[in-house]
Amino acid sequence: MTSLTGAAHSGLIQNKIGAKLPVVERAEGVWLYDSEGKDYIDGCSGAVVANLGHSHPHIVDVIRKQSAKVTFVHRGAFASSSMYRLADRLSNATGMAGVWLVNSGSEAVEAAIQFALQYFVELGRPRPRFLSHRRSYHGNTLGALSLSGHARRAVLGELALDFNVLPDPYSGAPVDELLAQVRAELERTPGQVAGIVFEPLSGATLGCVPLPDGYLQGLRALADEFGTLLIADEVMTGLGRTGRMLACDHWGVRPDIAALGKGLGAGYTPIAAALVSGRVLDAIASGSGSIRGGHTYGGNPLSVAVADAVLELTLNLGLADTALVKGEWLSDALRQLAEKHPMIVDVRGCGLMWGVDLARPGGESAAAAPIGERLRQAALAHGLVIYPTTGGFNDACIIAPPLTITEDELQHLVDRLDAAL
Ligand code: PLP
Repeated sequence: MTSLTGAAHSGLIQNKIGAKLPVVERAEGVWLYDSEGKDYIDGCSGAVVANLGHSHPHIVDVIRKQSAKVTFVHRGAFASSSMYRLADRLSNATGMAGVWLVNSGSEAVEAAIQFALQYFVELGRPRPRFLSHRRSYHGNTLGALSLSGHARRAVLGELALDFNVLPDPYSGAPVDELLAQVRAELERTPGQVAGIVFEPLSGATLGCVPLPDGYLQGLRALADEFGTLLIADEVMTGLGRTGRMLACDHWGVRPDIAALGKGLGAGYTPIAAALVSGRVLDAIASGSGSIRGGHTYGGNPLSVAVADAVLELTLNLGLADTALVKGEWLSDALRQLAEKHPMIVDVRGCGLMWGVDLARPGGESAAAAPIGERLRQAALAHGLVIYPTTGGFNDACIIAPPLTITEDELQHLVDRLDAAL
């Protein structure tokens, strides 16, 4: 039988356990407890998901109460009161006009693609192409994976949808040169590009590398000049994680469509959303085509009630602002670790979304196991969960704890990382 170890390790084939993973029995706040009684600090909020920490009593209460009321209705026939509340709250919090609820970040990106296609169909000038970036990750469904410059060739090869991949804006190349390449691509296919898709910070691929200053403003100007939509993938960065409700706000740029995911359900329920600007909403709502991209569980009352409570708490507790303050403390601490441990060659990020680039110890063979994975394992042994990424020039690790982490817990996190290094 074919070995399924790799797939099992990444949790894909759950009935063929090839690698023994610790079994989490319980989680509270930033803490995870395994079946052997060992505690871990969740330094990565699950997968940059658990913005409120685990088992938040208010959210647990909302789940209990909503489960006892109603958990599912056919969205074509009924709404739920929290659906309207969530849509309004999301719209007010982000400044985007329309909200379309789905179940995962990948579905939100797919919805963004479909809305962009539909927008140009409604204008009577269909455009079939999209541009995205070479080192990017946008999800695992066919459209989202085809946009993912990092994974599309490795996973889909020639089967990837014909989307064009732009050069790497996270590489340190001069912004003017990067924008000139985007312009050249837009000029090469006039009237063809429906959307330019980007991550404000490269998360899963590079480990929290922000776009260079000026690039996003330049993309906005080019999108306007060529009549193309700007599509922000804020699945990892949205909802306070970087210190703003949308990370694009750091550069004062408004996207035409934004995909949200992870932090919306905050680890309590699968839910995600595609948000559209007034102009896109007007076109697709007044047009002949019905809105596509519906999914059976999309916007179900349980997920919606949870997301509404998550968003209400995020806003009431001012978690975006505290992410900035705590992030500053964390980045200082990571820079101090970098001085002590030459293995850390770069520290970058925003809010509570940080990454460290790692160098192999001098003289080590290139055949040795990746340094990011080795640091992940060492951290796990010291009771800290962090995630490696391998899509960049160096190995990197992501450090993105829950936004509710306390100062003491941040200190524990840094101490455990120090020990692991
Ligand atoms: N977009 C970005 C930027 C992501 O980081 C991810 C997941 O890591 C996705 C999309 C896909 O989200 P999901 O795994 O919920 O489908």
